Amino acid sequence: MSRPDVLEKLVSLCKRRGFIFQSSEIYGGTGSVWDYGPLGVELKKNVKDAWWHTMVRSRDDVEGLDAAILMHPRVWEASGHVSGFNDPLIDCKACKARFRADQMDGASCPRKPSKKPGEQGDCQLTEPRQFNLMFKTFMGPVEDTAAVVYLRPETAQGIFVNFLNVQQARRQKVPFGIAQIGKAFRNEITPGNFTFRTREFEQMEMQFFVDPAAAEGKRTDMEWFEYWKAQRMEWHLALGLERERLEFHQHSATELAHYAKAAFDIQFDFGGTLGFQEIEGVHHRSDFDLGRHQEFSSKRMEYVDQVANRRYIPYVVETSVGADRVTLALLCNAYAEESVEGESEGRVVLHLKPSLAPIKAGIFPLTKKDGQPEMANRIVEDLRPLYPVDYDDAGSIGKRYRRQDEVGTPFCVTIDPESTGNGTVTVRDRDTLAQDRIDATQLRAYLAAKLAG
Ligand code: ATP
Repeated sequence: MSRPDVLEKLVSLCKRRGFIFQSSEIYGGTGSVWDYGPLGVELKKNVKDAWWHTMVRSRDDVEGLDAAILMHPRVWEASGHVSGFNDPLIDCKACKARFRADQMDGASCPRKPSKKPGEQGDCQLTEPRQFNLMFKTFMGPVEDTAAVVYLRPETAQGIFVNFLNVQQARRQKVPFGIAQIGKAFRNEITPGNFTFRTREFEQMEMQFFVDPAAAEGKRTDMEWFEYWKAQRMEWHLALGLERERLEFHQHSATELAHYAKAAFDIQFDFGGTLGFQEIEGVHHRSDFDLGRHQEFSSKRMEYVDQVANRRYIPYVVETSVGADRVTLALLCNAYAEESVEGESEGRVVLHLKPSLAPIKAGIFPLTKKDGQPEMANRIVEDLRPLYPVDYDDAGSIGKRYRRQDEVGTPFCVTIDPESTGNGTVTVRDRDTLAQDRIDATQLRAYLAAKLAG
C-alpha cells in the first residue's frame, strides 16, 4: 500500500511557516533552487549537527574538513567528471520538455491529458544525447577556456586531494576517515519534487581509508563496508525515520561504477508517487580516486605503513548523504493530520524528534495582564541562551498550540493565574498532549531531560 503524498502540503506549510521558500520568488523563482527560512535553517542545522556529532566528534578515527568549493580544474578530469558526469538527455521538440533517457518509465509529458513522453501523438522526441551536469564558471578576469573552473558536483574530491595533508597533520593511521559538510552543484536535467532533487544542495560525506590487504585479525575492506552500511542505517533510525520506511537498495552490475567494488543506497519511502528513493549512498570506491589523483598530479598519494614497512594506496569506503534530502525525509516522516479529543478542529502536527525540532518550547501567558507576560518573558530570557523558544500571546491557547504543533515544537509552557501565585507553570507535550504542572524553577532541568530523551 502506498503512503499518502504529503509533498504538496509540505510545500505550502514550509512556505507559510518559514521553513523553505522558493529562491528569488519575486522574480518568478529560480529552477529547483530553494532558500531555507528561519525554521528550516534551524531544522537543517540540527540534522547537520547530528551527523557531525556522530561521524566526527564521537570518534577518534574520523577527522573533519571544510574544503573549498572551487578546485583546480584538473581535479575534475582526474575524478572522471569532465568526461563522464553525464546524464542521457531526451528533448521533446513539440512541448520543449526534457527527460532523462534512463528515467523514461516514470516520466510524464507536461501536457494534458497526462501521458508518457512519446504517447501524445505529436511528440517529437530526440535521440538521447549526453549532458554534463557540472556548472562551469571562470576564474579571474578573462573568460577563456584556460580560466574555466567548476562548481563542485560532490564534496568528496576535496577530501581525496587532502588525504595526506590530514593524515600527516593529525598523525592518523589507516584505517581512518575524513568527513565534511558542504554545498554541491549539479545542473540536473529533471530536478523537482520540492527539495528532493535540486541544482544546489548540501552533502555530508565521509571517506574512510582502509588497507586493501588487511592483516590477519583486522577488518577487511568489505567488512568495513558492511560496518559503515550498518552504522549509517542506525543513524537514520536514530533521527526518528520509521524503520518500515527505510530500506537498502543494492546497485546491480549495470548501476555500479566501473571502479566500484560494491554500492548500496539507503532509500526512504517519501510516499505518493515518489515512493522509495535514495537519501544516502554507501560506496566501496576501491583505490580509484587516490590512484587517479596520483596519476594526474604526479604526486604520490600512498600511505606509508611504518610498522609493516609497506606503502600502498588505500581503498575507500564512502558514505554520502544529502542534508536537504534527509531534511525532506524527516518532514515527510513527521507530518500528520490528527483529530483532537474534545475539539471540533483537527490539527496538523510535525512529530519531529525533539532534538531536531527548530523551536523547543512555546511560552504562552494565558492573558496579557496580572503579571503573566512578565513571568513568561523571564522564562523566555532564561531558556533562550539554551535553545530557540517562541513567545506567543496572540489568540486562544488552542490556536497557539496549533501554531506550535504545525512546526513541530515539542513543548508548550503556559503561565496562568496560578503561576503568578505559586510559581508553577504547565508544560504540554506535543505528542501525548499530557500536561504537567511543575515549579518554574524546575523548567530548565525538566526540558533538558525531555530533550535529551
Ligand atoms: P540520484 O541517483 O538521486 O541522482 P546520486 O546517486 O547521483 O543521486 P550521489 O552522487 O550518490 O547521488 O550523492 C549522494 C547523496 O547526495 C544522495 O544520496 C542525495 O542525498 C544527495 N544528492 C545528490 N544529488 C542531489 C540533488 N540533485 N539534490 C539534492 N540532493 C542530492
